[in-house]
Amino acid sequence: MRGPWPRLDNLIGGELRPPVGGRYLPVHEPATAGVYAQVADSDAADIDAAVRAARDAAPGWAALAPSARARWLEQLADAIEARLDDFAAAESKDSGKPLATARTVDIPRSIHNFRHFAAEARTFGAESYAGEVGLEVVLRQPLGAVACISPWNLPLYLLSWKLAPALAAGNTVVAKPSELTPATASMLAELCVAIGLPPGVLNLVHGLGAKVGPPLTTHRDIKAVSFTGSTATGAAIAQGCAPLFRKLSLELGGKNASVVFADADADVDAAVAECVRAAFSNQGQICLCGSRVLVEKSIYRRFLDAFVEQARAIVPGDPADPATRFGALVSQAHLDKVLGCIELAHTEGGRLLLGGERVRLDGRCEDGWFLPPTVFDQLSFDCRTNREEIFGPVVTLLPFDDEAQALAYANGTDYGLAASVFTRDLDRARRMAERLQAGLVWINGWMRRDLRVPFGGVKRSGLGREGGAEAMRFFTEAKSVHFG
Ligand code: NDP
Repeated sequence: MRGPWPRLDNLIGGELRPPVGGRYLPVHEPATAGVYAQVADSDAADIDAAVRAARDAAPGWAALAPSARARWLEQLADAIEARLDDFAAAESKDSGKPLATARTVDIPRSIHNFRHFAAEARTFGAESYAGEVGLEVVLRQPLGAVACISPWNLPLYLLSWKLAPALAAGNTVVAKPSELTPATASMLAELCVAIGLPPGVLNLVHGLGAKVGPPLTTHRDIKAVSFTGSTATGAAIAQGCAPLFRKLSLELGGKNASVVFADADADVDAAVAECVRAAFSNQGQICLCGSRVLVEKSIYRRFLDAFVEQARAIVPGDPADPATRFGALVSQAHLDKVLGCIELAHTEGGRLLLGGERVRLDGRCEDGWFLPPTVFDQLSFDCRTNREEIFGPVVTLLPFDDEAQALAYANGTDYGLAASVFTRDLDRARRMAERLQAGLVWINGWMRRDLRVPFGGVKRSGLGREGGAEAMRFFTEAKSVHFG
């Protein structure tokens, strides 16, 4: 494409480079549906150049003292922090999320990711075992050049969640952000050049996943692939990587349940507020969103009324307005997909309690991709709407009789990422936590995380764990050395 829009290029070998093929893709602002930038439409030649740069830089980066690598990560964190407002504005414009969310969640968390893994670099150590058969030491060695592929919903947040541990552990990286939201990744690339990060340590290649994904994940010089995205893409990547015996970390989709027991009674308002937050944060476009709210029958009516009332108060607005708390969906295609899911919920006999239709805002956002909080009930626990990921602001409410039924409903999907349980009964909380098929369980809350705890899902929600030492272990190979 050609036009007056600024171009977002690749970072390869320490330089910002246009794609070899010279092609670009349009970048849209979800709030207006207008094009405002163009991003490199890369292909296998760009990937090859980036992987070579990463491979060549790997020995030098691995040879640095961990504290030296930590200082580079801290410099990146400082550089982002110095431009926090610019990053927040860019993230909001690019993804449709409210400026306030980008300013207080996405960008601060990205900065925190770099600082957190700088600390991990300093403390991650070798194990040793003495006495049984002499002395054995387990070295954790970097892998070399690794691929990090991230989605559009939390663009810099999820990209940095992968880059930071990969670099901290001594690897070099070829990253592929989503071409739907390339802005903050491009700004990060500029900062890498500005601070003088050694060339080739971090490379960013933009482009379509279907085109640049396979040459990246199956490139002979890539030693591991860390992917966050949909289950379908995760399966395709796994298929390509399996015969290569390549290390793989897959963080995939979710269909998470918020389970509210009547004994949360005294706190039912707090539970409602937390379930609403779980359902509609980032327009429901977070893999951890609680999109199925299961409520014990005796409080169902009261809960439903309060839930719908609170959800009704969440009104889509211009993401650039600092007062806005609910923005646009990321793309026309995604809006169409979510509207299709709403149609399916109607077909399956759901009762629409709120929302359900695209809204048109006045002024500059009249063509934007806005869909308000949407709530259904009276759907069976095993219908498609209650089993398949929607990844938008659409939530179902479902009453249950007892703990056994709540558990059966909660576990009744192919996904197993996260769950929330609202109860004041400690025994019940413990039983539910043990029996829920999920990688993360919150008791009386949602999405509160210490970055040191393992993060990831079971079933079709993925493979492996990120976070803290788990990520450092993924990005290293263990070597046991025996001293006789
Ligand atoms: P996709 O799987 O479509 O894309 C994710 C990334 O993979 C994008 O950069 C995409 O590029 C790229 N990609 C696409 N095809 C390939 C391929 N064949 N090989 C390699 N890379 C490829 O997911 P979305 O971007 O639509 O993100 C939403 C999904 O991500 C949801 O299912 C959500 O649940 C999941 N997710 C999971 C999280 C978790 O931690 N478990 C966290 C956040 C989201 P392109 O954009 O060009 O297609």
